[in-house]
Amino acid sequence: MSKNDTPRPIKGTQSLYGEDADRFQHVVDTFDRVRRLYGFQRIEIPVFEQTGVFARTMGETTDVVSKEMWSFESRSEGSVTLRPEFTAGIARAFLSEGWQQHAPMKVAVHGPAFRYERPQKGRYRQFHQLDAEVIGSADPLADVELLAFGAQLLDELGIEGVTLKLNTLGDAESRDNWRAALIEHFAAHRGDLSEDSQDRLEKNPLRILDSKDPRDRPFADSAPTMQLSAEAEDFFGKVKAGLDAAGISHAIDPHLVRGLDYYRHTAFEFVTDRLGAQGTVLAGGRYDGLIEALGGSHTPAVGWAAGIERLSMLVEEDVSPTIEAAILPMGEAAQLKAIEVVTRLRAEGIAAEIFATGKMAKRMGRADQAGASAAIIIGDDELAAGEVQFKDLKSGEQQRLDIEATLEALDDLAMERELADITQQVDG
Ligand code: ATP
Ligand code: MG
Repeated sequence: MSKNDTPRPIKGTQSLYGEDADRFQHVVDTFDRVRRLYGFQRIEIPVFEQTGVFARTMGETTDVVSKEMWSFESRSEGSVTLRPEFTAGIARAFLSEGWQQHAPMKVAVHGPAFRYERPQKGRYRQFHQLDAEVIGSADPLADVELLAFGAQLLDELGIEGVTLKLNTLGDAESRDNWRAALIEHFAAHRGDLSEDSQDRLEKNPLRILDSKDPRDRPFADSAPTMQLSAEAEDFFGKVKAGLDAAGISHAIDPHLVRGLDYYRHTAFEFVTDRLGAQGTVLAGGRYDGLIEALGGSHTPAVGWAAGIERLSMLVEEDVSPTIEAAILPMGEAAQLKAIEVVTRLRAEGIAAEIFATGKMAKRMGRADQAGASAAIIIGDDELAAGEVQFKDLKSGEQQRLDIEATLEALDDLAMERELADITQQVDG
């Protein structure tokens, strides 16, 4: 085989190593920790579904359905599609798995999603999402809880400079009236709009508001806003009051719409100016019509999704693994002792690694790089006495200890480090 035969990755996919993969996992771990604080259950759903699951719920005219889906003819299931998002698959499972019995159901899931888009920074063909949904609740408190969950997640990830943009898409009545007003407004400027928007004008005029094409922007910005029915006004008022009570600041954006057809009432986006055009990191809203579109009974629901890659890019904390103890055996006999010691340390929950080969100074350097706060050196003398040389790498202090005393010394070092961290946080 020549070098030219080496397979290349599928365009728009990523393979991650080390620090990048750790940052990715840190986002997932944080999500999992925070969802427990809010009482969300974990679920798992398939990576692919019958194409109709997405086509029927997301809307035929949306970008995702009209051009971004990865669909295949399968041998026994007809057309199937790799999930471009989680919500539709969750709704399908809600109906086919009898999850109605759990309603109102608070669920969390994460994993890969697929969209046929032009790859660029923060935009991939296989990307990964965190997803949270409350299904079967018409209570504005559900919206507030979800938004609080999202806000706390971003906060715990240490992501700063994020704004919560909030809007209401009204109920069916206010939305229909608004739709008619938008068609009238855009039809008056039809010739000046982008080709995409001219296509969308009658089918899905709300999407024009969301257009990134500069030709559309002036008309999108001057478009009429929705006149809310009393009921929709009341619902939105309760969401805003709940956010205030939770101390979550938000900016009302009357032109915020979501790309998909199924949204009603609350729509929101957490946006940052730090990722260029890919600034939306977490987005969602209420979708009171979606379960019905799959043949279920009327089931109000609200949810959000966040791109793991975009969140990872904003994490500044160093989350790479570090070891606490480096074990340096001198000679072959000491190597077995090193295995015994490293096994004991790891069983005690202490991250440790053996550095067996190379000159002593080199090994010390590698131990230091791995973040070790102590070196455990085992030579012939120590071996004979059943002890080790314990070196505090910060102070340089060195003493001979047995294994129990070594564990205690490591404990002390860990405590010192924790105290130093806390002091630094208080000072900083
Ligand atoms: P955008 O306007 O950036 O295309 P979207 O409205 O299509 O986003 P959603 O369908 O709301 O996005 O998906 C929720 C989140 O998933 C987005 O806010 C983003 O963080 C992430 N996301 C969506 N598409 C991609 C992609 N192709 N690559 C990476 N992340 C993505
Ligand atoms: Mg998109």
